[in-house]
Amino acid sequence: MKIVVVGTGYVGLVTGTCFAEVGIDTTCIDIDQKKIDKLRVGEIPIFEPGLEEMVKRNTQKKRLHFETDIAKVLDDAEVVFIAVGTPPDEDGSADLKHVLNVAKDIGNHMSSYTVVVTKSTVPVGTAKKVNEAIQKQLEIRGEDISFDVASNPEFLKEGAAIEDFMKPDRIVVGVESDEAKHTMKQLYKPFMLNGHPIIFMDVPSAEMTKYAANAMLATKISFMNDIANLCEILGANVNLVRKGIGSDPRIGSRFIYPGIGYGGSCFPKDVKALIKTAEENDYKMRVLEAVESVNEHQKTILYQKVENHFGRENLKGKKIAIWGLSFKPQTNDMREAPSVVLIKRLLEAGCKIAAYDPVAKEEAREMLGDSIEYKSDQYEVLINADCLLIVTEWSEFRFPNYRVMEKLMAQKLIFDGRNILDIEKLKSLSFNYHCIGLNAHK
Ligand code: NAD
Repeated sequence: MKIVVVGTGYVGLVTGTCFAEVGIDTTCIDIDQKKIDKLRVGEIPIFEPGLEEMVKRNTQKKRLHFETDIAKVLDDAEVVFIAVGTPPDEDGSADLKHVLNVAKDIGNHMSSYTVVVTKSTVPVGTAKKVNEAIQKQLEIRGEDISFDVASNPEFLKEGAAIEDFMKPDRIVVGVESDEAKHTMKQLYKPFMLNGHPIIFMDVPSAEMTKYAANAMLATKISFMNDIANLCEILGANVNLVRKGIGSDPRIGSRFIYPGIGYGGSCFPKDVKALIKTAEENDYKMRVLEAVESVNEHQKTILYQKVENHFGRENLKGKKIAIWGLSFKPQTNDMREAPSVVLIKRLLEAGCKIAAYDPVAKEEAREMLGDSIEYKSDQYEVLINADCLLIVTEWSEFRFPNYRVMEKLMAQKLIFDGRNILDIEKLKSLSFNYHCIGLNAHK
């Protein structure tokens, strides 16, 4: 089987590489020539554990190819995935221009029956638009070629993308024809051998499933952050409350950790897009509006704690050390990272910032320029620091050398936005420790 994946970003590259890994002849397409040139020589544009070796292995075995010109590869492709970005438009709705450009390209170059699959996260009704865009080009060409448009939203998590793709909890596929259903079943067979379910449904339901999943996860985060803030006011400990509620299987223990708000390329834009879709259909997503508003507030929580401690008027010139910049661990993705909001607030107040992130230094520099110092070692940022802010819960921050820290820092003061440090240990070493959802000084 030959397939094509259009858009070689986080999703497209992982998707293409994982299909190649199970033996499918796969070509990844991107309009970014530099990206494709680098991939051809084994340079990976993103940090994703395990991906580099997999790309190299499959390129060498000639199962994985990289191209910029879709016209060269459509001829004998049975399936074409659209995995380009769907960034938020100015009004919050998903911008479909990249998706529809690809649909147009497909319509211009396809030569036989093809299953076109939207893997990008797209609003309900997009498959219909993709269908129309392809049909229009075929009519212009005077061709009558049959095709199907299927929806196959992606649920991988950055940082665990390979594992998620190779061993998915489930595969959701929206199809309108038996032929497309059969093709998709064949394609995903190698990933279902361990009993993972493939859930077939109609196309609009598949499109909606992705938004519902991300909206639910964002809701869990905002709910827990709201509970954490109230715990702090009332003198309860959110870590204990989390364990208490998480042991109920109806609630579950995963994804109920408080912090400094969700970020990344998916939750913020997908929550916005779903609110917008509802608005366009005269419906109000009241829960999601609150989810968004709690999240915006939560991104400022750590700054507020710093300001409360020092007093706004004393922040000018304070040396702040930051551990973690990426929106979550195991990725260099800085899109919508809460660290950016925090850093901007601290800079406005006149603070001087030195930050360390294991992999996101260059991506952070692209966003924040040289307004902060970027260090290559987690302890280097602590030299003469007035306080440390923990922003991303990278594993290497979980068990730091406190003795070294106290020697380097000007003040033994820590604001932990991810609740990862050991409160008792810090107390015994007389650190002044603040975290989310509990009073560490009690
Ligand atoms: P990305 O920005 O990393 O990659 C998109 C790629 O598409 C870019 O390399 C871009 O150059 C390329 N592209 C744009 N227009 C093109 C065209 N006409 N032809 C060929 N290539 C083109 O985006 P991403 O993070 O991989 O996300 C892609 C989609 O998957 C989005 O809809 C996103 O919401 C969804 N998604 C993302 C994740 C994630 O964790 N990143 C998870 C699930 C779903």
